[in-house]
Amino acid sequence: MKTLSRISSFVLDLFFPARCALCDRIVKYDECVCNDCLSKVRYYGNYCKTCGFTVCRCESNHSYDKALCMGIYDGVLKEGILRLKSKMSQQMCRFFAEWVRGLPEAENIDAVVFVPMTKKRFKQSGFNHSKALAKYVSSAIDKPLVCNALVKVKDYTHHKLSANERREYVNEAYECAASVKSLSGKTVMLVDDIMTTGATLNKCASLIKDLGAKSVICVCVAKVEKISTENTAHTK
Ligand SMILES: [Zn+2]
Ligand SMILES: [Zn+2]
Repeated sequence: MKTLSRISSFVLDLFFPARCALCDRIVKYDECVCNDCLSKVRYYGNYCKTCGFTVCRCESNHSYDKALCMGIYDGVLKEGILRLKSKMSQQMCRFFAEWVRGLPEAENIDAVVFVPMTKKRFKQSGFNHSKALAKYVSSAIDKPLVCNALVKVKDYTHHKLSANERREYVNEAYECAASVKSLSGKTVMLVDDIMTTGATLNKCASLIKDLGAKSVICVCVAKVEKISTENTAHTK
């Protein structure tokens, strides 16, 4: 059976070669990222795992219990995320899901939830990249994906707003589906691509707790290192 799966992987590799999640070069069928990119990824370290910031902001209360980010939103990882957002990248999802599986926090998760998109934005792009990441995470850690817990009802563009306005908009942008009872008493993993100010994660975590969840662990592909109006320009 092992030989058979090796042969089928070899054949797949021949016709549909795997590509590096970050630079799109061809890699071996069992690799997500090429060695060159792997050496260039800036992993996010030395930060407060409770609030997700290098300079702790735990005093300014947040609804999530932990915020864990894989890397810094920069260089090859930023390119990989932009590719994931523009045309979906299963390799990027695999790369991230493998990282999540290695986290000690992954052991105690009961359900996986993702940051939703508005129907309008979903129609435009044809997929929700955070949902795609969450699907891979759910299968990597073998926990159920809950798709209908949160809804996004309003779109906005970060870079046009001040920090206060952004907070206000985030507050109005997300809602929870009151009919969802499956998160009651659970430890929930909330998946998103980028953590910027943490406002989106905070709002979504508070809604997940409104649904009865015991705790919310956020996992993101990347953290925006220096928050300025320039690099918060991505739209959610
Ligand atoms: Zn690469
Ligand atoms: Zn902190």
